[in-house]
Amino acid sequence: MTRARKLVRQVAMRLFGDEVGCSDGGCVFGHPGGMQTNGGCQCIKEREPVILKRNLMRMAEVARVLACVSPETPAPEAKQ
Ligand SMILES: [Zn+2]
Repeated sequence: MTRARKLVRQVAMRLFGDEVGCSDGGCVFGHPGGMQTNGGCQCIKEREPVILKRNLMRMAEVARVLACVSPETPAPEAKQ
């Protein structure tokens, strides 16, 4: 698991609880590790669109805050 994926998972758990996410390797809330599926993130498929949008906006806001307080960790697009 990459550092970024771990960070996504940690933030999602803090925001939404330890049970957030699904078994898909590409889960929008980060995969907890171990066995994984690859049929697509169930979190996107099963949530009401308004709830999904709210949750993803929270995640994006956290990422923006982290980017501002952690300048030593540039975003992937900032690498040269
Ligand atoms: Zn998921």
